[in-house]
Amino acid sequence: VWAHIPEAPADPILGLNEAFKADPHPSKLNLGVGAYRTEDGKPLVLNVVRKAEMALVTDPNSNKEYLGIAGNAVFCRLSRELAFGTSCQAVRGNRIATVQSLSGTGALRVGAEFLKEHHPSKVIYLPQPTWGNHTKVFKRAGLEVRTYRYYDSTTCGLNFQGLMEDLMGAPSDSIILLHACAHNPTGVDPTPDQWKQMLKAIAGKQLLPFFDSAYQGFASGSLSADAAGLRMFADACPQLLLAQSYAKNMGMYGERAGALSVLCSSQGEAAVVASQLKQVIRPMYSNPPRHGAGIVAAILGSPELFREWEVELSGMADRIKLMRSKLHEALRQRGTPGSWEHILKQIGMFSYTGLSKRQVEHVTKKWHIYMTLDGRISMAGLSAKTCGYLADAMDDAVRN
Ligand code: PMP
Repeated sequence: VWAHIPEAPADPILGLNEAFKADPHPSKLNLGVGAYRTEDGKPLVLNVVRKAEMALVTDPNSNKEYLGIAGNAVFCRLSRELAFGTSCQAVRGNRIATVQSLSGTGALRVGAEFLKEHHPSKVIYLPQPTWGNHTKVFKRAGLEVRTYRYYDSTTCGLNFQGLMEDLMGAPSDSIILLHACAHNPTGVDPTPDQWKQMLKAIAGKQLLPFFDSAYQGFASGSLSADAAGLRMFADACPQLLLAQSYAKNMGMYGERAGALSVLCSSQGEAAVVASQLKQVIRPMYSNPPRHGAGIVAAILGSPELFREWEVELSGMADRIKLMRSKLHEALRQRGTPGSWEHILKQIGMFSYTGLSKRQVEHVTKKWHIYMTLDGRISMAGLSAKTCGYLADAMDDAVRN
């Protein structure tokens, strides 16, 4: 019965990993996948995560019972406060419905299913370009996906005029996906003033913002600075959605700890929305896993662990920033044709190098350096030792 099914294409990002593993070259370098690596190229488990985990597993009162459909309630409250801030009016007024989710992807999908059923418009606008999975998540949930202009390849920066025109042109009630910070894949974020203008357009046209926050604290090293855009919107919009992930900022990729929050206009509305989110979750996966959320709740809930986390978080953010300056300097030393300032300006885990598809193929084939075909590299995959090698490869690709 399944003989007629065509084979699906491999995931473009996860497929890179396979190609990398199969390459026997000693200098090979994997800059494709967005997971943090130490200077030695190793995955990192934060000390604070180990500590919280140890306390959790040795606690004689811990158990393996099911969580409720909405997950760990303390985790949900602390996640909401982390994103919106404790002084946010909607947080104080209990106007935000939060459920635990299967990391950021799960939050996006539950949010999308909820909107498909309950929002008047089924149209969602995604930035062009965006994280590849966004399109798939929203299409699978039955929303109509459109795009708004975002990246300007001539300046390697934001196409702000195009973005504003597209927001102004969107029918009211449309959903607008916004990367809270460290836009993936470009590393290009709006300035505070641009956020303000976007808010004016979005609120004025009664569009519904859906924030995706996968890198809070990871972009600038400051948890509040990375939430500034979101918080500005939360103060002014009657409704919005937020998907949160702890994959990057706590290095808990495989634990699938995340949250979906829906900001509502009243406490009563939030209670009704929460009941409907549970209706989405129950037939999908019944209830979320308890381990990762338990670790996150322990860290966020303890002032001491929270401070330790902040230090480790800025450590990761700082190493990434250092890699930006090292790569930039290496290209400058080689006199590589073109402007490379954007490598310094872009923020977060990724840099959109500006390399063309042909140049990326050259770099992979000749230099065994793996990156997505759009020229996106994970800065976290670089080290002081490998920046020069990458610069050699980029220089060669640009000149040939
Ligand atoms: N949104 C964006 C923009 C991302 O970059 C990612 C991870 N690459 C996610 C969401 C979701 O990640 P996860 O499901 O692992 O939390």
